[in-house]
Amino acid sequence: MTGHLAVIGLGPGDPRLLTPEASDALAAAQALYGYAPYLDRVAARPGQTRHASDNREERSRAAAALRHAAQDAHVAVVSGGDPGVFAMAAAICEEIESGPASWRSIDVTFIPGITAMLAVAARIGAPLGHDFCALSLSDNLKPWDLIERRLDAAASAGFVIALYNPVSRARPWQLGKAIERLRRHLPATTPVVFGHAVGRADERISLTTLDTTDAAQADMATLVIVGSRETRIVPRPGRAPLVYTPRAAAGASA
Ligand code: SAH
Repeated sequence: MTGHLAVIGLGPGDPRLLTPEASDALAAAQALYGYAPYLDRVAARPGQTRHASDNREERSRAAAALRHAAQDAHVAVVSGGDPGVFAMAAAICEEIESGPASWRSIDVTFIPGITAMLAVAARIGAPLGHDFCALSLSDNLKPWDLIERRLDAAASAGFVIALYNPVSRARPWQLGKAIERLRRHLPATTPVVFGHAVGRADERISLTTLDTTDAAQADMATLVIVGSRETRIVPRPGRAPLVYTPRAAAGASA
């Protein structure tokens, strides 16, 4: 079988943050599969077909792309950010594991992209400078009580926490609940960064602290970084403050 499937990360939105490897893979594809707003970021090429699907249809999109690649085609599936972070790469692996044996012979490549938490962190300093974790607040694929247990564990273990999928139209309350939960473990002064649509025309970065964080400020295109006890804010005259987490944990010998 000569079918080829590339699972491509497009980065957060700015075309300059698309890697040359991703750009080459997009150019080589005969067919592109993905969520429509992500496909819209890719320049049209003659002869290349496009197959847009809804955001919530990851498994069926993965299966459709694999069926297409199995016909000896050169197919690409696109994700925003990195395809391995709450995105299509795992859906593709899942379909290969459960699908027809012939799909295991398809030449699959995963092409990384700059994930949202890295793009947001870079706008404000180095909030992820020490140990951190990433959590999706979407309870479409896991129960809410598991999310709460992970928030408790991460905050009490001293991790900085990047929150993906903080809210959606169908899930308006999750971020507020998560913030309430984190207030049980962390000081009121803990820095909280909201990064909205980083790398796109409507980008907005804001900095608050845990006591004043307003969950209503977040939408589907927002990534939230909640600091640890060690995360610091450095005010600067005439410039936005820096937020960083020192590389040495408290109590470490220098
Ligand atoms: N694979 C993507 C994440 C998909 S989950 C990645 O690696 O970035 C979708 C969530 O990612 C959104 O709800 C939001 O929390 C975050 N996100 C994606 N793009 C973003 C951007 N440009 N700015 C801020 N957050 C973003």
